[in-house]
Amino acid sequence: MVNSPLRLDIDLAALTANWRWFQGRSGGARTGAAIKADGYGLGADAVMTALAGAGARDFFVTTNAEAALLLPLAEGVTLSALHGIREGETPLPGVVPVLNSAAQIARWRRIGNGARCDVMVDTGMNRLGLDWRGFETGMLDGLNVGILHSHLACADDPGAAMNGEQLGRFQEIVRAVRDAGHAVEASLAGSGGVCLGTDYAFDLTRPGLGLYGGVPHPVAAGVPAQVVRPYAEIVLVREVPAGDTVGYGGTWTAAADTRVAILNLGYADGYLRGFSNAGRVKVNGASRPVAGRVSMDLIAVDLGSDPEPQTAREGDWLEVEFDLPVAARQSGLSQYELLISLGHRYQRRYI
Ligand SMILES: *Cc1c(COP(=O)(O)O)cnc(C)c1O
Repeated sequence: MVNSPLRLDIDLAALTANWRWFQGRSGGARTGAAIKADGYGLGADAVMTALAGAGARDFFVTTNAEAALLLPLAEGVTLSALHGIREGETPLPGVVPVLNSAAQIARWRRIGNGARCDVMVDTGMNRLGLDWRGFETGMLDGLNVGILHSHLACADDPGAAMNGEQLGRFQEIVRAVRDAGHAVEASLAGSGGVCLGTDYAFDLTRPGLGLYGGVPHPVAAGVPAQVVRPYAEIVLVREVPAGDTVGYGGTWTAAADTRVAILNLGYADGYLRGFSNAGRVKVNGASRPVAGRVSMDLIAVDLGSDPEPQTAREGDWLEVEFDLPVAARQSGLSQYELLISLGHRYQRRYI
């Protein structure tokens, strides 16, 4: 078998520990998991299996196309498609569409055969969902609605007035829907919303980012354990004479004669150009900087002058530092973009 010189180690124990932390902060609510975009780049199938093993029952992807890759579902597991159901699609067994518009509701009345759906109400984000202003409980008549959802626009910002406004609007709508006789559950919070407090938890929370090691909100700083660690193999080590530059544009200059390791990793692997002269790589216990620009398939690492990093050589596997909040500051990218950009050249190793 030909193996890749690139590897992602995905720590499923850290993933489930992170999920339990969100569960602990969700009050009495069930804790689900957003596994869209292939489990934020880490493998939706493996993530779902691990979290279902820890007790998660409610999973969220975007479309039926994503959901279809995860069928058949394990006993007791629900998979919801956040973008609803498109014209021309047929319902997938066990997949619950989250209906977002009058058109989607009409479609589900036509083709859903009375099966369960969820409904999204927009409470101010103006993205998906029925507008809260024109919402009437009669819109749900004849539907078998499991969960009424809404989604917060500013959950990462504890000072945002919009959080309380969205909460109040959603509470009112949930009350009205229940008063009209629909026995719905309610769900508002992703990772950031969970951190806003149990008022936001309702019956079910939908964390994503925090499960994968991201920090969604200041109260979670330092809490989520790192889940994904990229490793890349050294292609070669070279001596760069003092005064020479490294990489495209010659943006890094050797201050002294310097050994530089060239690694099999680049922006095609989601190690985007923001890491140029900013990222860090672990070399025999030391943290060493990326030298010069990130290329499509390669980076250079300055091995410095300490003795341990000097011993790095062709074929060694080095860990690319990828603690999400730190990497976000280094690269100027969001933690979400960092995760989902990782790409397809890695061999995933679940540990
Ligand atoms: C992506 C998403 C989530 C998860 O959000 P995180 O910020 O990653 O925790 C929850 N709910 C909806 C509707 C989403 O689209």
